[in-house]
Amino acid sequence: MTRLIFLGPPGSGKGTQAAVISGSYSFPHISTGDILRQAVSQGTELGQKAQTYMDRGDLVPDELILGIVRDRLSEPDAKTGWLLDGFPRNVEQATYLESLLDGIGQTCDRVLNLQVSDDSIVKRLLERGRKDDNEEVIRHRLQVYRQQTAPLIDFYQSRQKLVSVNGDRSVEEVTQSLKAVVNSLAH
Ligand code: ADP
Repeated sequence: MTRLIFLGPPGSGKGTQAAVISGSYSFPHISTGDILRQAVSQGTELGQKAQTYMDRGDLVPDELILGIVRDRLSEPDAKTGWLLDGFPRNVEQATYLESLLDGIGQTCDRVLNLQVSDDSIVKRLLERGRKDDNEEVIRHRLQVYRQQTAPLIDFYQSRQKLVSVNGDRSVEEVTQSLKAVVNSLAH
């Protein structure tokens, strides 16, 4: 049973690493960004509400995201563990998650914090070229990360959950460091 949260700025490689790690072990990769992008492409009500925030690089309001995560974590495949990517993204979401997990007798094992320099972030995101990856939106997403998401580093540090990993290395090297952390957990 492994329950992980991946934390890091946009462009830190969270999504890439989360996919690799969840593929190597047997727990689902739950990416709120992927869930929202799918809703946008399907034109659902959620997608329509979320799109303007995403295009600007703002977080979508908590009331749109909390229920999604609650529902996803109650699906059968999440019973044996999970990897959250892109959630929580602010202290309110982290607090919500904590009480949600409390209520179902779960706790997250580790928060893996990918550390990457600002230069690499901008370079990687410009190369990725997603719709919300133009320079102005990238700068805004970084600002949102610093103001709203970075405080989670202290939040999880104080709960003895945080493990920081240097993300300024090759995909394979970062994966090896992350696997070392996962393997060190009692399964
Ligand atoms: P990145 O890899 O660049 O961090 P994500 O795929 O995680 O991007 O998220 C893309 C966008 O989706 C965010 O900029 C934000 O608008 C929205 N989003 C994703 N997860 C959350 C969340 N937990 N809370 C609020 N908004 C979110």
